[in-house]
Amino acid sequence: MNTSIKNILQNNDFSKDDIIELLYTSQSEAKLLYQKAKEVKSYQIGDKVYLRGLIEFSNLCAKDCFYCGIRKSNKNVQRYSLSDREIIQAAKFAFDEHYGSIVLQSGEVKSREFENRVDRLLKQIRKITGNNFGITLSCGEQNESTYSRWFESGANRYLLRIETSNKELYKQIHPNNSLHSFQKRIESLRVLKNIGYQVGTGVMVGLPGQTLSHIAGDILFMKALDIDMCGIGPYIEHKETPLFEQRSTLMPLNARFELTLKVLAIIRIMMKDINIAASTALQSIDKLGREKAIQVAANVFMPNITPQSYRKNYNLYDNKPCIAESPVECQSCTVARINLANGKVAFGEAGDAKHYLHRMNRRNEILI
Ligand code: SAM
Ligand code: SF4
Repeated sequence: MNTSIKNILQNNDFSKDDIIELLYTSQSEAKLLYQKAKEVKSYQIGDKVYLRGLIEFSNLCAKDCFYCGIRKSNKNVQRYSLSDREIIQAAKFAFDEHYGSIVLQSGEVKSREFENRVDRLLKQIRKITGNNFGITLSCGEQNESTYSRWFESGANRYLLRIETSNKELYKQIHPNNSLHSFQKRIESLRVLKNIGYQVGTGVMVGLPGQTLSHIAGDILFMKALDIDMCGIGPYIEHKETPLFEQRSTLMPLNARFELTLKVLAIIRIMMKDINIAASTALQSIDKLGREKAIQVAANVFMPNITPQSYRKNYNLYDNKPCIAESPVECQSCTVARINLANGKVAFGEAGDAKHYLHRMNRRNEILI
C-alpha cells in the first residue's frame, strides 16, 4: 500500500499535487479514499438522500457544444417543448409525491418569449407548492436581469456546469464564438451567486484531451467558487456529435466511471457540506452507478419525471438510461435504489445545501 496516499488522507484539504495523486490511485488504494469520503459524508450529511424531480422541459437549443446530443446542428433530433400544462402537472406530481424539489432543465434559449414563459411557470409552480419546496433551474446562460427575475418569481437554485475549468480545453469542446465564451460562463456563475441562488456547477470526467491535472484544477475551481451544489458525471460519447470522432482517444468507460467516483469522493472530503448529485450518466455505464455514488459521496438523487414520450428526444449521450420508463416507474425504482445504497429518502424535504445555510448565516452575522 502506498503510504503517501494514507498521509494525504490525514488532511481534509488537498493541494493540486495531492489531488492528482489521489486520482491516480489503483482500485485497491482508492478504497481508502472512498472510506474517508464515506466517513465525512456520514458525519456531515448523514444518510438522508434528497429527491429532485427532473423535468427536461425542452430540447430546443441555440448552442452547439461539441459533446451534446441535442446541440443545435444535430438534425436527427425531434425537437420538443412540453406544454405549460404538462410542466405544471409534472411539478405537481413531484409535490404530491413528497419529492421536496424539482429541477427544470432545458437547452439554452435566450429570448424574451422564453424568459416570460419560465417566469410564468415559476410563479404558478410556487403558488401550488408553497415556500418549502426547492425549484432549481438549469437553462444555461442568461442575462443578469433574467436570472434576477426568475429568482424573484420563485426559483431558488441554479445549476450551470462549467464543463471544464481549463480555458484551453473549454475551447476544444465548444465552437470558437461569443455564444460559447468561457469567460461568460464563469461570469454567469458569479452573477447567480450574487443574486442569492444556491449555485451548483460541475464538469464532465473523461473528456477527450482532459488530463488529471485538468480535473484537479476543476476541483480547486469549485472550491474557490465556494459552490453549494455539485453535479459531476462521466463524459459519454454521442454518435452525432463532433467529439465522437475522437472516441479512440478516450479512456474505457469503466475507467471513466472509477475516475468520476474518485472525483466525487475528493469533493466530499474537501467540500464537506455541499449537496452532491448522483448523476444519471453514472448509471449509463454501471447499472448500480448512482447507488455507488450515494454510498461514497452523493446525497441528491434526481428521478426523471419528464413524460415518457419525450425522453428519447433528450438524448444527451448514447445509452442514456430511464428512456423507456414513466415517472411512476422511476419513482419506485428510485426508492429501491436509495435503500440499496443504505440511504434514507428524505421525503417532503426541500434539502437546501447545508453549505448554503452556513454561508447565509455567516453573511447575516456580518450584516448585524
Ligand atoms: N443547456 C443547459 C446547459 O448546458 O447548462 C442545461 C442542459 S445540458 C443538456 C445539461 C448537462 O448535460 C451539461 O451541463 C453537460 O455537462 C451534460 N452533457 C451534455 N452532453 C453530455 C455528454 N455527451 N456526456 C455527459 N454529459 C453531457
Ligand atoms: Fe445546448 Fe446545454 Fe447541450 Fe450545450 S450542453 S448543446 S447548451 S443543451
